[in-house]
Amino acid sequence: MKKNSILNARKRFLEIYNKKPDVISLAPGRINIIGEHTDYNLGFVLPAAIDRNIQFLAKRTKNNLVSVWAEFFQESENFVIHDLQVSLTIKWVNYVKGIFWVLEKEGYSLGGLDAFISGDIPLESGLSSSAALEVSVINALNKLFHLSLSREQLARLSQKAENDFVGVSCGLMDQFISVFGRKNTALFLDCETLFYEHVPLPLEEHGLNIVVYDSRIRRELSASDYNKRRLESAAALKSLKTSGVRSFKDVRDGMLEDKKDEMGDILFRRARHVTTENQRVMDAVRVLKKGDFQKLGELLFQSHQSLRYDYEVSCPELDLLYEVGKQFEGCLGARMTGAGFGGSGIALVEETQTEAFINRMKKESEDRQFTSPVFFEVAIGEGANIQ
Ligand code: ADP
Ligand code: MG
Repeated sequence: MKKNSILNARKRFLEIYNKKPDVISLAPGRINIIGEHTDYNLGFVLPAAIDRNIQFLAKRTKNNLVSVWAEFFQESENFVIHDLQVSLTIKWVNYVKGIFWVLEKEGYSLGGLDAFISGDIPLESGLSSSAALEVSVINALNKLFHLSLSREQLARLSQKAENDFVGVSCGLMDQFISVFGRKNTALFLDCETLFYEHVPLPLEEHGLNIVVYDSRIRRELSASDYNKRRLESAAALKSLKTSGVRSFKDVRDGMLEDKKDEMGDILFRRARHVTTENQRVMDAVRVLKKGDFQKLGELLFQSHQSLRYDYEVSCPELDLLYEVGKQFEGCLGARMTGAGFGGSGIALVEETQTEAFINRMKKESEDRQFTSPVFFEVAIGEGANIQ
């Protein structure tokens, strides 16, 4: 499959530009196994790269003009590398421009390109196609212009491009996993220190699948609710700081209860989510090292309930995944992922039961007259690489 899509991209490049690319750069999308709303709280996350990629093919030119063809949109855009303006009409080109912008700002010297983007990561479905696009571009430029960027720089500069040029305030997790992902492993990441560790995730060996459930619900309000949660957790942390707590990772048994009256119920519950979620990520690492997927599943269910009742970022469509998952024999665990109020979730399902599980979800959604959801089965794939 992957080989075919690379061949196809090469063919398309040749058709469009009448020459061969110098570089073929691949970067994957991701799922987050556990650790939600912990990233900006400088806590723990456990993402994994998936076997779906953005492919960025490019050849250097002798001028300062970049021409990019986006296969998905069937359109091309041009820009001059020293005159980078955010496009208000063509959103996708800003991710490419953003990488040029951040590298120029850091003092790297770049040149023009003929380039081509294709891929099989569904857009805006919570699989982080945006980070995959950024990472595929920066890794290609790293190679083409001999920039000698470290893997950490690839991730950090990609995030900076998305934050400061595209204007989306995302954490580092998506870019980090797209760079550092490894087949059949998840990546434990401490978002404060950037300490990371690969953790085994041999789903196939255990006859398991991860099903991504895209509720297709996009709530207009979600951005403001997201910001509200960020403010609430910052406020909760502030009142904990008097007990010597620097981040939620320092919260020990009893500390939250001691501060409950001072914080009030809402901030208490926000703090409880972040604290228990950090703990669940550590527990997930521990059980995965033992290959205990039953336990991992339980942690996913617990994470969902904490996001639902303590952090209050779920919605009926996402709760359905939990409800069906809980009842369905072959489902070990399920939870909402991402910012919430819509978007996606993941379920850990026995391979032989996957089809039945998806059918059950479809039927239950229909019965409730929800927007028709979309499902993807994903395997755990490699991080960014140059072919
Ligand atoms: P997500 O990262 O969850 O998939 P985002 O809204 O953050 O969703 O990013 C999606 C955006 O990234 C798209 O709207 C598009 O601008 C860009 N993008 C993703 N995949 C592609 C692609 N194959 N070709 C061109 N642009 C893409
Ligand atoms: Mg994104």
